Amino acid sequence: MMDLTGKNAVVTGSSRGIGKAVALKLASLGANVAVVYAGNKEKADETVKELEALGVKAICYCCDVSSAEQTKQLASQVIADFGGIDILVNNAGIVKDGLILSMKEEDFDKVISVNLKGAFNMTKAVYQHLMKKRRGRIINISSIVGLNGNAGQANYAAAKAGIIGLTKSAAKELAARNVTVNAIAPGFIETEMTDAIPERAREAALAAIPMKRPGQGEDVANAVAFLASDEAAYITGEIIKVDGGMAI
Ligand code: NAD
Repeated sequence: MMDLTGKNAVVTGSSRGIGKAVALKLASLGANVAVVYAGNKEKADETVKELEALGVKAICYCCDVSSAEQTKQLASQVIADFGGIDILVNNAGIVKDGLILSMKEEDFDKVISVNLKGAFNMTKAVYQHLMKKRRGRIINISSIVGLNGNAGQANYAAAKAGIIGLTKSAAKELAARNVTVNAIAPGFIETEMTDAIPERAREAALAAIPMKRPGQGEDVANAVAFLASDEAAYITGEIIKVDGGMAI
């Protein structure tokens, strides 16, 4: 039985969507949660209330993960408030889709900056702390698009593929310190991000899923919880697809 009682988790982008499902799942297993949000304090406060109702400690923090300075301050503040960090889930992400021919330079830079550099910044911010503790878990949310590519998402796919390289490199750097670093590659998960996809593209995506249903945040959260648990102690540098078979 997985148990995270007393562990402290930082989950970026956890005021909604997959991040919120992850926060709730970790809390249901006993973990305290630092809810990191980009701008919507109301939603972050709501998440904190739901987490507290599960009997754990929860605090929300406004932080733009693309800022190295802000992530550094965030990590110190969380360590001061919770007494330490055991689990980092790099979930924050954005899309700015378009074909390469029409993709604006700033839309490429922005997606790399939040999705890839954000995960790097957060990893760096907790690196020394986890090394000193000689135990820890980092779980990065990539995407099957990072494995297979996707027309109209060159920026997003490049960032998500970059996350896989970051995950494997960090796994090699931190393994001797008993810190595991893994990634999850979700397929098509129903959230506000996928709600924005036009109906025809949505139907095409659903038709490409062997299990014939979209995933839910909870499907991703269950895999995150496993990787965060003691049961996954000997797994590092791994990429787990949670996609109903979409990328087989
Ligand atoms: P979402 O848009 O509902 O949530 C994204 C979260 O990231 C939001 O809470 C947002 O506030 C936060 N965020 C955005 N920019 C940020 C920044 N600069 N600093 C801090 N936080 C920031 O999307 P979601 O579907 O829940 O996606 C969560 C993660 O899962 C993303 O990394 C996404 O790329 C990935 N993913 C989603 C799917 C899917 O089908 N929904 C598939 C594969 C991967």
